[in-house]
Amino acid sequence: ATQVERHGFGAEVGRLLDLVVHSLYSEREIFLRELVANAADAIDRRRFESLTHPALALPEAGTIRILPHKPDRTLTIADCGLGMSREELVDHLGTIARSGTRAFGQKLADAKPEERPSLIGQFGVGFYSAFMVADRVEVTSRKVGSDEAWTWASAGEGEFTIAPASREEPGTDVVLHIKADAEEYLDPLRLETIVRKWADHITIPITIERDGKDVPANEGTALWRKSRGEVTEAAYQEFYRHLGHLFDSPWATIHWHAEGALEFSALLFIPGSRPFEPVDHDRASKVRLHVRRMFITDEAELLPSWLRFVQGVVDTEDLPLNVSREMLQATPVLARIRRTVTNRVLTELRTRAKEAEAYAGFWENFGAVLKEGVWEDSEHRKDLAPLLRFRSSAVEGWTSLEDYIGRMKDGQEAIYILAGDDTAALARSAQLEGFRARGIEVLLLADPIDAFWPERLEEFDGKPIRSITQGAADLSKLPAGETPAGEPADVTALVAALKTALDKDVSEVRATDRLVESAVVLAAGTAGPDLQMQRLLRRAGR
Ligand code: ADP
Ligand code: MG
Repeated sequence: ATQVERHGFGAEVGRLLDLVVHSLYSEREIFLRELVANAADAIDRRRFESLTHPALALPEAGTIRILPHKPDRTLTIADCGLGMSREELVDHLGTIARSGTRAFGQKLADAKPEERPSLIGQFGVGFYSAFMVADRVEVTSRKVGSDEAWTWASAGEGEFTIAPASREEPGTDVVLHIKADAEEYLDPLRLETIVRKWADHITIPITIERDGKDVPANEGTALWRKSRGEVTEAAYQEFYRHLGHLFDSPWATIHWHAEGALEFSALLFIPGSRPFEPVDHDRASKVRLHVRRMFITDEAELLPSWLRFVQGVVDTEDLPLNVSREMLQATPVLARIRRTVTNRVLTELRTRAKEAEAYAGFWENFGAVLKEGVWEDSEHRKDLAPLLRFRSSAVEGWTSLEDYIGRMKDGQEAIYILAGDDTAALARSAQLEGFRARGIEVLLLADPIDAFWPERLEEFDGKPIRSITQGAADLSKLPAGETPAGEPADVTALVAALKTALDKDVSEVRATDRLVESAVVLAAGTAGPDLQMQRLLRRAGR
């Protein structure tokens, strides 16, 4: 016992534990999903490491074992995965390495009960869900390549202990001391029902011990290898939730098998809601790459970053199973798969864009991400333009560039836009006055990325895209709706006086036909960045 070391949980872990344990009571069974998912991750990672380090190879029966033991009231989840070193036990189970935890705690407290499990999953606090059903948890782990083993133990109340242990083989045992009111989780049949519900698509065999025997509990089929007709909506949904740690239904399910020059199966989902991400620092697509069913990596960037919201799996025949990281970077096979998969997603979006209402839901969730593609991806810029949707000074709801062109006035040559921070404020802007008076529609753009992409798109269907804050957007050619009464005042003297007063702060002061009610408006030069871009550059300290 002298070798037992005590550690305090970080304050945030304590808070989080409390929330997880007390807010998820009705969803208690998800603890098994979380622990099985961790075991499966650890096995996948060991398999990938063993490609380059054969000494780490998995034992033949690379299974996840679930072992209920009524006399001791313990439930053990055992895996032969990568294992954890002493430091990793402390770091991974004793602190929350990710940022945004405090924000998460608040979010969790505010969320509707049915949304909470999804929040838990997204934040990778899955392990702590064990404390919903256990009053004590012991994790004994031996890292592959080491012969030391350690036990992490905690009652989930402020502290945990670390002590030396022994384990025959590398891997991890998570031992739950089941609470008196959670005895159902010691019943093999109850456990099997949960595994079937949550983990049927996990390709690693899962067994549950019953009467001294390990009984297979999952089908272990790769869902994406089946044909569409063989898969139920419920099975798609379950897999989607597992993949993205989401709890809603997919907005689109794209499932196909490519044959011919390239051979692969792909199952992709466009989420039905926006994931809660406190920081959007990781722009890389996380679509999983499998080779002949085996998980290889989720870092192959199978989709461009402007489609990073798409979740899913691509499983190919065209790469060797022992593909290395270097090879993944160099192989032309991946580039070809990437192109095919990207185009397939774009086709789906084009089709679904025809259902205006359903597409609006998608657009509100992910439109801002898609617009990044217009800015940075010259290859797909033209494909993306028809998929864009906008708020407008003239119509309610969302509108497309195509519809805008259909409403253009005789003599109007350009598509007019106004970018800023919020559409309601833009709709009241003095910049719009002259356009409104002439019945000319202006698209109102309020995402930060809107300061950038219009410059790259330049035109749509032969019509230039022009910011109305930029120079003399030429309104004189367009007939005014109603002519203001009386002669326009001569403002030559006023203009000269203003120019003298403002001096170097402005490059020019001139009379304009853009205003109706307001006396003055700020405009950008014709050549340089528009006003919103200038604002952003100033904020960035340029
Ligand atoms: P997440 O799985 O989202 O990272 P968890 O709270 O479920 O978050 O787990 C935290 C971390 O603990 C994991 O990222 C992993 O590094 C480690 N871990 C948990 N269970 C295991 C296991 N069975 N084998 C190896 N590492 C594990
Ligand atoms: Mg986890």
